[in-house]
Amino acid sequence: MVEQAPALTEVGAGLQIAPNGGRVLDALGVSVPGVDSQAVHLIDGPSGARLIRMPLGAGFRLIHRADLIGALAARAGDLDIPVRLDTPVTAVEDAAMRLEGGRRIAFRRLVGADGVRGASRAFVAPDHPARFTGQVAWRAIVPVDDWPAEAQVHVGPGRHLVCYPLRDGRALNIVAVEERTAWVAEGWSQDDDPANLRRAFAGFARPIRDVLDRVERVNLWGLMDHGATPRWTRGACTAIGDAAHPTLPFLAQGANLGLEDAWTLAASLDDPAGWERARRPRVTRALAAAAGNARNYHLTGLRRAAGHAALRLADRVNPSAPMRGYAWLYDHDVTAD
Ligand SMILES: Cc1cc2nc3c(=O)[nH]c(=O)nc-3n(C[C@H](O)[C@H](O)[C@H](O)COP(=O)(O)OP(=O)(O)OC[C@H]3O[C@@H](n4cnc5c(N)ncnc54)[C@H](O)[C@@H]3O)c2cc1C
Repeated sequence: MVEQAPALTEVGAGLQIAPNGGRVLDALGVSVPGVDSQAVHLIDGPSGARLIRMPLGAGFRLIHRADLIGALAARAGDLDIPVRLDTPVTAVEDAAMRLEGGRRIAFRRLVGADGVRGASRAFVAPDHPARFTGQVAWRAIVPVDDWPAEAQVHVGPGRHLVCYPLRDGRALNIVAVEERTAWVAEGWSQDDDPANLRRAFAGFARPIRDVLDRVERVNLWGLMDHGATPRWTRGACTAIGDAAHPTLPFLAQGANLGLEDAWTLAASLDDPAGWERARRPRVTRALAAAAGNARNYHLTGLRRAAGHAALRLADRVNPSAPMRGYAWLYDHDVTAD
């Protein structure tokens, strides 16, 4: 395995691992410390009023990316899987990877898990366009004393903020999304001034403003829609995870789908075309559901009033019902297939 980073560290950010991804970690014997999420709690951002608190079953974990990477690396070590760090791949070719300095590593099969800007995607789906979605996302982690073990989604016109606790509730992970017309370059670590984040959510209720006052460092992304990548395999290279199907973060499934990809492809390395045929409908459905959430979170005017009234009613009558609509996603067990 080759990795461009000189060390297996990860800039601070959280991940929600759902049961469908967690089953893969369990089957691999990878144990990641985290917080068990009890619910998804939708809150009206400006007033701070509860819309619906949807209880979750077992297996929804709130983890730090660094802890996931550390646990995967430790397991790779247990299994004697060599990991070559500090090895950026500059290009993938038909049967070889080209490294910085021009060196080539030949391969019989390559699994490209190098993300949306990696060399595998450039080889497998060259010229596949990316479109700015009109949304930017800030990501930050702040220290907290105590926070409920749930994912909170604070929604407002044209913006929403997701927050959840990490590491025994001592840190709060924040993802804040705002609609914009201006384009921001896509990347993982673009610094921004925390004042811009505070300004964007100045109309939200006090608890969120208090949390944002504590942000000292924040990164900003322009969220891009890559659509369905036309193919995931070219020659002996198969892309998985974000390299194959970059996912908007509004369903918290990108990493989960990547875990599923890895497990299922491992059993089909001799038949990547068959793997892609079997896998594509599920991935396409998840991508569409994520895009739909973006619209629902940012409603304005009458549609917002009607949508929120329906959520409040569901909260009183049957708060578990909306999550049951995602049984196709969370209950699926690729390790049992
Ligand atoms: C704001 C936000 C919140 C999110 N929240 C969630 C969530 O809660 N749950 C969830 O499941 N998903 C979430 N996601 C999505 C998730 O982060 C991605 O889908 C996931 O990280 C993709 O994993 P990957 O391994 O395919 O790619 P990446 O995580 O991008 O990893 C690619 C790896 O390849 C390496 N690499 C890249 N290029 C090269 C090269 N040329 N040579 C060698 N190595 C290379 C990189 O250094 C990196 O280690 C979120 C995304 C965003 C933007």
